[in-house]
Amino acid sequence: MIDETGNAVASAVSKNLEVDGLDAKYSRETVLSVRRWSDSLFSFVMTRPAHFRFTAGQFARIGLEVTGSAPIVRAYSVVSSPFAETLEFFSIVVPDGAFTSRLKDLKVGDHLLLERIPYGYLTLARYQEPVPQDLWLLATGTGLAPFLSILQDFAVWQNYQHIVLAYSVRTIEELAYVHEINALAATFAEDGGATFQFIPIVTRDSSFALHERLPVLIQSGLLEQSAGIQLDVARSHVMLCGNPQMVDDTRSALKARGLIMNRRGVGNIAVENYW
Ligand SMILES: Cc1cc2nc3c(=O)[nH]c(=O)nc-3n(C[C@H](O)[C@H](O)[C@H](O)COP(=O)(O)OP(=O)(O)OC[C@H]3O[C@@H](n4cnc5c(N)ncnc54)[C@H](O)[C@@H]3O)c2cc1C
Repeated sequence: MIDETGNAVASAVSKNLEVDGLDAKYSRETVLSVRRWSDSLFSFVMTRPAHFRFTAGQFARIGLEVTGSAPIVRAYSVVSSPFAETLEFFSIVVPDGAFTSRLKDLKVGDHLLLERIPYGYLTLARYQEPVPQDLWLLATGTGLAPFLSILQDFAVWQNYQHIVLAYSVRTIEELAYVHEINALAATFAEDGGATFQFIPIVTRDSSFALHERLPVLIQSGLLEQSAGIQLDVARSHVMLCGNPQMVDDTRSALKARGLIMNRRGVGNIAVENYW
């Protein structure tokens, strides 16, 4: 069972295990590489079973086996393209966090559980009206993950005219994947395809060009100025992912500009809270 935040409810997992056994729900995957960005951020790549098919923007549920009790399971957005042979994830380390205080010691060759099906609706398929024109991807921290997957789909670059990726972190050390983002732009932003604006934001460094929180940058107009396009109810698809406070405040700032939540295919704003 998944609670309202997408995380596992331990008692429900153990019940499920009694009924189905571990293998009915999870496959056991092998860690192929680990990359550490800072003390509190790392990425890892693991094997991808043939049955695990997902849409860019969805999340997986990853488990750590614990001797004598039910596995600890958490939701993780997939960083990889749906066409990749392996699965990459981008993780925070929460001091005393039940999952990440163990996961932080992950090494090549370790095993992780992967729930057999993906979840989530932070996908571009949800947008029907307005038709694709401008895509705004607004992330805090590890909320970047689903957008990296979305940006690896060639069709996205063909379908949209403008793509903006705003990525907000606290310190410059937390700006992970910058090289990869620039490489994506170089690969996909071709003649005739979408224009691309990458907007890094560092909130605890007032010397950084953009250092205010995303909702403030929307209210002041600075985000649009940096993007070179306007937020517009008739043109914008806006996805928000990461810190729930950012998601709430940014959603309010966007609504104040006339944008509406996307429901049943219609509307501008789609969100995913990480806790
Ligand atoms: C749909 C969905 C997708 C997610 N995708 C990712 C992902 O791609 N990468 C990732 O690192 N986490 C992701 N998370 C969060 C993840 O599921 C766990 O919460 C996280 O791994 C911490 O687990 P924990 O048991 O150590 O701490 P928890 O007990 O789960 O969390 C403790 C506290 O840590 C803080 N926290 C939790 N997650 C984060 C985070 N990502 N960044 C900053 N602070 C956090 C919050 O204050 C939270 O209350 C996602 C969550 C959801 C619901």
